[in-house]
Amino acid sequence: MDIAELSDRILNGDRRALARAITLVESGRKDHRALADALMVKLAGAGRQALRVGLSGTPGVGKSTFIESFGMMLVAQGLKVAVLAVDPSSARSGGSILGDKTRMERLSRERSAFIRPSPSQNHLGGVARRSREAVALCEAAGFDVVLIETVGVGQSETMVAEMADLFLLLLAPAGGDELQGVKRGIMEIADMILVNKADGDLKATATRTCADYSGALRLLRKRPQDPDDFPKALTVSALEEAGLEAAWGEMQSLAGWRREQGHFEANRARQARHWFAEEIRHSLLARLETPWARDRMAVLADEVAEGRRGIGEAAQDFLTGLGS
Ligand code: GDP
Repeated sequence: MDIAELSDRILNGDRRALARAITLVESGRKDHRALADALMVKLAGAGRQALRVGLSGTPGVGKSTFIESFGMMLVAQGLKVAVLAVDPSSARSGGSILGDKTRMERLSRERSAFIRPSPSQNHLGGVARRSREAVALCEAAGFDVVLIETVGVGQSETMVAEMADLFLLLLAPAGGDELQGVKRGIMEIADMILVNKADGDLKATATRTCADYSGALRLLRKRPQDPDDFPKALTVSALEEAGLEAAWGEMQSLAGWRREQGHFEANRARQARHWFAEEIRHSLLARLETPWARDRMAVLADEVAEGRRGIGEAAQDFLTGLGS
């Protein structure tokens, strides 16, 4: 299939074409990359926009359950929902935490839903690019909401926040001491904290935890561009499907406010700048991994170690070779 046809089919909401395009952007082959770049340019012209919602939380907190319930609720409202997983740990293990389990069974059967597990990738930079492009492909395919899920490890949360319009942190009910365990940096990028499992025996603890986090969020630096009561904490029960509509209402209200104030588009423009710089950085680093670069570096390193060449001069020699 050529790029024009693939692009038309994606714009028509063809899910198989979408899956195929995501496979294309994930490919490490040079010819695939050129096709992927051409496809992305073609689709960007369509100007479709979804609400991109990042979601993070440690394993076991209830992300799959939440996405299933929340996704089903959105679908029932007539919205099209895409779910993408970003899981850099799969780069190391070769298998994906977020993709291994049979997850979101009900949602995966919905015609208005599209679920894509995380592939394995060698570099965080590669994960970022394929995720960013997959989000854009889902937007072009006409999805209203794109959920980008990640586990709470390493830099993945910051990365997902940089490709999302809203960032949610899912937490479990916990005693006061555990509040300290949530990294400050994560609290700072969260637009909303959802304390999950607010049901049965855990309900009272969840309410208390939620109050604690509300207090903690108030103490953090406020984002001057957002309404006074954001970021905020809410309780939900993914299992009992409670609090989900309220959470969606808050998300829409924040996104709506940001749109009216011009912050929504400004944030996307800032993100585009960020990813442009990252792309250049990533490509330059990739050039250090070619056989020529590895060999040349090893040869020059020996010469430097033996005192036959100066460090600065040898590095310049290497870079000149790399540039040609
Ligand atoms: P993930 O690892 O973050 O994707 O978490 P899962 O969605 O797989 O959930 C982990 C466990 O927590 C499972 O046993 C779920 O049934 C349970 N769980 C998820 N959401 C809720 C909830 O709202 N209430 C209760 N009581 N349990 C939940």
